[in-house]
Amino acid sequence: SAASSRISDIPRRWASATPDGVAVREEGEAVTFGQLWHNIEAAIAFLQGRGVGLGDRVMIVTENCTASITLLFALSEIGAWPAVVNARLSEREIESIRAHCRPRLMIFTHSVSPDAVRHGVNYRAREITPPGLGPLMEAALDAESPREPEALARQVALLIYTSGTTGQPKGVMATHRGLMHFARVSARSRDLSPRDCSYAVMPISHIFGLATVLLGTFEAGASLMLFARFKPEDVLHGLADGTVTILQGVPTMFARILAYLRDHPQPVRAPALRYVYTGGGPVEATLKREVEATFGQPLHHGYGMTEYAGSVFITRMERPRNDVSCGEIVEGAELRVVGADGRDVPTGEPGELWVRGPGVMHGYYRSPEQTAEALREGGWLNTGDIGRLGSDGALFVVGRSNDLIIRSGFNVYPIEVESVVNSHPAVKQSAVIGRRTADNNEEIVAFVEVRPGHLLDVAELQEFLKPRLSAFKRPSHVLLLDRMPFSASGKLLKQRLRALADEALVS
Ligand code: ATP
Ligand code: MG
Repeated sequence: SAASSRISDIPRRWASATPDGVAVREEGEAVTFGQLWHNIEAAIAFLQGRGVGLGDRVMIVTENCTASITLLFALSEIGAWPAVVNARLSEREIESIRAHCRPRLMIFTHSVSPDAVRHGVNYRAREITPPGLGPLMEAALDAESPREPEALARQVALLIYTSGTTGQPKGVMATHRGLMHFARVSARSRDLSPRDCSYAVMPISHIFGLATVLLGTFEAGASLMLFARFKPEDVLHGLADGTVTILQGVPTMFARILAYLRDHPQPVRAPALRYVYTGGGPVEATLKREVEATFGQPLHHGYGMTEYAGSVFITRMERPRNDVSCGEIVEGAELRVVGADGRDVPTGEPGELWVRGPGVMHGYYRSPEQTAEALREGGWLNTGDIGRLGSDGALFVVGRSNDLIIRSGFNVYPIEVESVVNSHPAVKQSAVIGRRTADNNEEIVAFVEVRPGHLLDVAELQEFLKPRLSAFKRPSHVLLLDRMPFSASGKLLKQRLRALADEALVS
């Protein structure tokens, strides 16, 4: 029945339909769906031997590898919740997630990730080599950790932490239903088949890597080209030898590929590539144009969040767009664009984006107040983002309500200021935030990373902005940074910029 279906049904289905079909390619090795399922069964025995059962949490500190994918599905079969976290997080971040989810067991992947091993040492983890999983480190913790009640344990598939862009990462309880639904949306909207191979470098600890890439690809019986870490060279290789057909990543990933090609000019060969997609953050028109020119494919785009188990808007394959909109609403989802008065705004005007549909999370784990803030009456999820709908139903995301700057009564969307600042030839990238002033107004602070080999004169930049931005949108301060602060999944951390601004501009 539908109620008892779980995400592990996806690889099980292909293990029985096409056991010889390739599921994962990693460092030249191919693992078939048959082998993957065999390993999942071995992992189930290993986990049960450790006392892991229905309603437990198991934390996996890792980078993308076959072992962590195997564990993810094995835990799903048992009814235990994996909390997969990126080994590139700091010790403090890992510890706060551990303290939050209280796992019965922590597993650190060994073969691919020196960072995971380093973290494992902090938890006195010991090395083991369970069959089907290869060398790992495990730490048995919190044997007293309370189990979740059975009904909840069966409904929720896993804990997945948000990117922590606006504060502490929140532990989203993603449901089997939501993830399976989105796996189908992802596979269909890319028209995936077993002949496809997706480049899989987005971390599976992030909703993009987990739902769009891993589950979407497996849903169609297609294979993953797995990399622990993103390197532009690897992408170009995988494309040139005709293996990769589907290329997906955050905008930062594409920006890094373009930067690499600028430093190492070469023809880009991608004989089998047929779909290129980005999401997870705003896309600039210039980036879109350059990516399209480089790969000879339209750059598709989507908008989503951890709390919806994937994307809510995706551009359609048959209708690629010339603008940077996030495309059309996905099957099963509904959207409201809500004004400050709590009512829907007229089409075309910006408002808070509220979403409803099968992807909506069960809630934030152990966080009833944040859950109540996000999940509203009638099953609506308040995303905390601001956007507007075009007359053709396409969505334009203009920012987060948190980031909205209200200066002397005027709304300023950072993205608009950023795109003008970015058009200055010496600017590699900018980020704009609002900062409270003593007289209870907000001032605009622009952080700028200068293009290598260029010099930026701040006074000259201000002159450049004058004819291009109305006075109330122009930054009061421009601060230069060597490097923008990014999260492990490639997201700009504005929260950190706010702290930097407070330090730099202490009055
Ligand atoms: P946190 O919730 O911890 O602050 P986060 O919101 O960045 O972090 P994610 O769930 O990974 O965590 O990201 C979802 C958010 O990313 C969305 O709510 C939205 O703000 C932003 N986003 C996603 N896709 C797009 C897009 N195509 N354009 C603009 N913003 C996007
Ligand atoms: Mg969020």
